[in-house]
Amino acid sequence: MEKIILTGDRPTGRLHVGHYVGSLRRRVELQESGEYDKIFIMIADAQALTDNADHPEKVRQNIMEVALDYLSCGLDPAKSTLFIQSMVPELTELTFYYSNLVTVSRLQRNPTVKSEIKMRNFEASIPVGFFTYPISQAADITAFKATTVPVGEDQMPMLEQCKEIVHKFNSVYGETLVDPKILLPDNKACLRLPGIDGKAKMSKSLGNCIYLSDTEQEVKKKVMSMFTDPNHLRIEDPGQVEGNPVFIYLDAFSKQEHFDEFLPEYANLQELKDHYTRGGLGDVKVKKFLNKVLQAELEPIRQRRKEWEKNIPAVYEILREGSIKAQAVAAETLKEVKAAMRINYFDNDDMIREQEAKYQK
Ligand code: ATP
Ligand code: MG
Repeated sequence: MEKIILTGDRPTGRLHVGHYVGSLRRRVELQESGEYDKIFIMIADAQALTDNADHPEKVRQNIMEVALDYLSCGLDPAKSTLFIQSMVPELTELTFYYSNLVTVSRLQRNPTVKSEIKMRNFEASIPVGFFTYPISQAADITAFKATTVPVGEDQMPMLEQCKEIVHKFNSVYGETLVDPKILLPDNKACLRLPGIDGKAKMSKSLGNCIYLSDTEQEVKKKVMSMFTDPNHLRIEDPGQVEGNPVFIYLDAFSKQEHFDEFLPEYANLQELKDHYTRGGLGDVKVKKFLNKVLQAELEPIRQRRKEWEKNIPAVYEILREGSIKAQAVAAETLKEVKAAMRINYFDNDDMIREQEAKYQK
């Protein structure tokens, strides 16, 4: 069986370092591993509209931001198909058929949908499209016959829901859809990177992000203002590293070479953590180190972004070509889906003969 990746992001803002450690960095590694036959990376504009119906301009503007972030991080259009969701109308059609295989109560139980509804204060006025977006996500994944979906932890309930749809479809209409597997980051700190404010998730919607495209000064300012252990008031106080965003970021980003280069007085992260826990290590020193680590990771990304920003029409061309390619693949799957459901009325000769026989009796 072919190994196929599908993943993507909502164009609701620029991408941040949470996306980077949760999914983007992994995608580039998988792309370079050469182990995958096909890689599809989707800019989920239709999904972004489900909770931004009044702001289509915001979604439109952010398509380019996300595309630039992709290219700057090293996604390579020669190896990965980058495309825009709404340019593949087959996805909407699949969503419509899958909707009949999912109950309202099942959607209501989806923990990610639940918490996102709360976060957005939708209360009783939840847009239907938003409520049902897990179904459209199942369409995105299955349309490309994805075997592997590299995403952050918040996407786990989406994958479960997708698998249920796959099983239901296959059991009702016959083996057609491919069962996907989630690929979570293997580093615990990357599963759900917290915000700089200490909130559980760095998220565009919460405004607590360090963006990949932030300037050096912006990154520094954000790092130096980060939430840490609120009980670590004086340098000599013992501090807590668990749940402390500064140390979680170091878990997610720091490498041995960073210690050798920027903080040689500590052998590794464990030594730094031990000192903090014992007391006698100030937040400012740790933050200064984190800033250097982040700058080292982000600088090459910023440089590549500058280059791509000089050539916006070329980026559009990449997305256009990618969307055409993606559409052809999704159309093929839709054809198979309709054949399995036996609603392919005009290209099923057996069905035509069957009907003919019925009326000629
Ligand atoms: P929005 O608030 O609009 O939903 P978001 O910041 O949650 O935006 P998405 O586009 O929904 O971003 O998510 C894109 C991908 O990035 C998903 O795979 C998601 O799991 C991952 N991701 C998002 N935020 C984080 C985070 N803080 N830590 C790890 N992974 C993340
Ligand atoms: Mg999200």
